[in-house]
Amino acid sequence: MKLLSRFVEKVRGKNVVLFFLAVVLALGAPLGWAVVKGLWGIKAPSSYEIPLFIYITFGTITAFFVFAAIMVFLLEKEANLAEELLKAQIELEKEQERTCKELQLVKSSVLKISQFGARIGKSKSEEEVYYNLAYAAHVALGFDRVLVVVNRNGVLSIAEARGIKVESEEERRVLESLKLPCSEEGGSLGLVCRDKRPMIFGLKDFIPPKYKLRPPLSDVEALRSRAFIVVPVCVEGDKSAIAVIAADRKHSGGDVSNDDLVTLEILCDVAGTTLARLRLEKQLQHLATIDGLTGLFNRRFWMERAEEELQRAKRYGYPVSFIMLDIDDFKEVNDTWGHQAGDKVLKGVAEIIRRGIRGVDIAGRYGGEEFVVMLPHTSGEDAYTVAERLRRTLEGTKVGVPKVITATFGVSWYNPEEGDVSLDELLLRADRALYRGKAQGKNRVVKSW
Ligand code: GH3
Ligand code: MG
Ligand code: MG
Repeated sequence: MKLLSRFVEKVRGKNVVLFFLAVVLALGAPLGWAVVKGLWGIKAPSSYEIPLFIYITFGTITAFFVFAAIMVFLLEKEANLAEELLKAQIELEKEQERTCKELQLVKSSVLKISQFGARIGKSKSEEEVYYNLAYAAHVALGFDRVLVVVNRNGVLSIAEARGIKVESEEERRVLESLKLPCSEEGGSLGLVCRDKRPMIFGLKDFIPPKYKLRPPLSDVEALRSRAFIVVPVCVEGDKSAIAVIAADRKHSGGDVSNDDLVTLEILCDVAGTTLARLRLEKQLQHLATIDGLTGLFNRRFWMERAEEELQRAKRYGYPVSFIMLDIDDFKEVNDTWGHQAGDKVLKGVAEIIRRGIRGVDIAGRYGGEEFVVMLPHTSGEDAYTVAERLRRTLEGTKVGVPKVITATFGVSWYNPEEGDVSLDELLLRADRALYRGKAQGKNRVVKSW
């Protein structure tokens, strides 16, 4: 009965034909017997009839059970197979989901790296590069503590810090004034800076004692964690790294991996090329403002600076003065001792001017052997004194040729009480005074007023 009910249970709703076949098989023999007997009136000898009937009936019932057992076995096997298939399918779907998630993660981190890389690349100053690098490591790569130290002539000091908790003002002061040498003595940071090689440091296992961070960094435990990454920021051609970034996941309890190293390296590469670009731009800018021979501002840049300064003076109502000077008989210097000697004289005169003025004064090479100085917050009379001092210094200094070199000076000034006067007008006044000086016999200072 149990087999029958299992059979019915398996078969029901699945294969109705099979079910009916089994029913027909079970009932077919006795029914057939009755039909044959009734229709054709076949009569077996009565002594055989009962045992034959019993034999046929039990035979078909046995056959039915054997058939049912086989069916149940086959159906169960099929069901198991289906179940296994279903399980495999679910497993596969899960795997697919996992892969999708991983892909999504890779995609988003690639996106993040390119996004933050671009941000570093667009930095307009060195400080901005370090800020953006630390920000990217902190936000995009998920390091919870980030430290950027910058290498200035072999001394490392902190440029950026993120996620580093300072417990006291004292700690902050120690960190802010931290100075580490760019060598083994500077611990992991110094080592990476010197060798220009990224490293993963585990404080307990693979850092040799001599590399351990020395006080005061170890005092504040700024980098104490199970493992941290240190990556250099390099500019091609430099002997050591220009900066070093250290990062870990102490607060979140996570470890750092080789993948972290690779991604941080990519960002540091971007930072390095950005710093190289900024350096180049600075050099170009410097070249564009400086006169190559004398090192003073060139005429174009001097005019820009003078115009700015004059505008400021007008706005705030303070005086500014202009000294213009022209070397006397300079043609003779060139003609007698050659152009190179003439160049030496120009450099010597520029040096005398540079030394004879204040840091706020703006000196430039105005023409071939003409120089100009703007003196903010200086009245005409005071500028005259400065010019007279310069004239005397030049007269008393040997500047590359066996001849006393002199110059004639013209002085003009912007008097706030006078009202609006243009830079051109003030320079013209100084120039006219200068040429009056030339006409009066050279080597003198002439006021324009
Ligand atoms: P003055 O006393 O009237 O000023 O006479 P001067 O000979 O100084 O004046 P002039 O303007 O006739 O000569 C200036 C000379 O300066 C002419 C030019 O060859 C020379 N000079 C201009 N720039 C340079 C330079 O960069 N190097 C050298 N060696 N000479 C220069
Ligand atoms: Mg001249
Ligand atoms: Mg001259």
